Amino acid sequence: APRTVLISGCSSGIGLELAVQLAHDHRQRYQVVATMRDLGKKGTLEEAAGDALGQTLTVAQLDVCSDESVAQCLSCIQGGEVDVLVNNAGVGLVGPLEGISLAAMQNVFDTNFFGAVRLVRAVLPGMKRRRKGHIVVVSSVMGLQGVLFNEAYAASKFALEGFFESLAIQLLQFNIFITLVEPGPVVTDFEGKLLEQVSTAEFPDTDPDTLRYFWDFYLPTSKELFHSVGQSPQDVAQVIVKVIGSTRPPLRRQTNARYTPLVTLKAVDPSGSLYVRTTHCLLFRWTRLLNLGLRCLACGCLRFRIWPR
Ligand code: NAD
Repeated sequence: APRTVLISGCSSGIGLELAVQLAHDHRQRYQVVATMRDLGKKGTLEEAAGDALGQTLTVAQLDVCSDESVAQCLSCIQGGEVDVLVNNAGVGLVGPLEGISLAAMQNVFDTNFFGAVRLVRAVLPGMKRRRKGHIVVVSSVMGLQGVLFNEAYAASKFALEGFFESLAIQLLQFNIFITLVEPGPVVTDFEGKLLEQVSTAEFPDTDPDTLRYFWDFYLPTSKELFHSVGQSPQDVAQVIVKVIGSTRPPLRRQTNARYTPLVTLKAVDPSGSLYVRTTHCLLFRWTRLLNLGLRCLACGCLRFRIWPR
């Protein structure tokens, strides 16, 4: 029988792509329950699903921040049985922490961390009873290493990494696997939503130096990084499809080979200094020289880049 796959956050980006790819599996191994908080946004998914809609893919309402919504969604699944859970829903938050409210940071944790925990608690008893299951968590490379001006977001992903690594040990006893998927930058609405957020943000109580580091150093470099090493949501979804199809899924899976050098810096120096100092240099010294200082005199294009295209 096909495995039931429940995915959160399918109105856009990685979740939408993953739902569509699994629903079109040529061996029809999956019955996809593609969920989203606001069903008013289901048009793009339904269009992309095409023939699969109502066959191997159904759309359901699910707000990961609401116990009620989770219970309601699971009660609509035949037998209430979820074989594969993909915790994909997530929100970002960037800016100087002095200028961001605690409520905004808590919202990031409510969605990214407690949202995933809420869903896992709901499906785990069934998986344990059946002695099988797979829980996939869309984490981030920011679950492995901190990035300035993303403190709360990175912390929410670090929290996921610690939580699910801990749980993975117990769950092996039940033949249930956990996979933390760690993409680098992915070109989805995610970045656009963040840029929109910051374009209207005022960041009160933040000193001028910090504001300058954010606007003049961090933001241009971040945009450049998305542009140069950003993956498509299709590519990330493909990696997740493979992970879901494997018989012994890994605990961790990065998706972007071009980003791995930065992650490796942390792994090779357990003191953490190599990663922190190199990233600091990249941002505050080399980037200034390479990306901002040496523009092509003829047309003003950025000739020298830290990241090859
Ligand atoms: P996206 O904004 O297109 O998708 C996120 C989805 O989560 C949206 O559909 C949004 O509506 C949904 N969502 C937010 N709050 C929700 C809630 N309370 N209940 C249900 N759904 C909710 O962006 P994406 O890039 O596809 O992000 C998917 C995941 O990938 C996120 O967890 C994100 O942290 C992670 N990620 C993204 C990037 C990137 O650069 N885009 C990189 C690494 C990891």
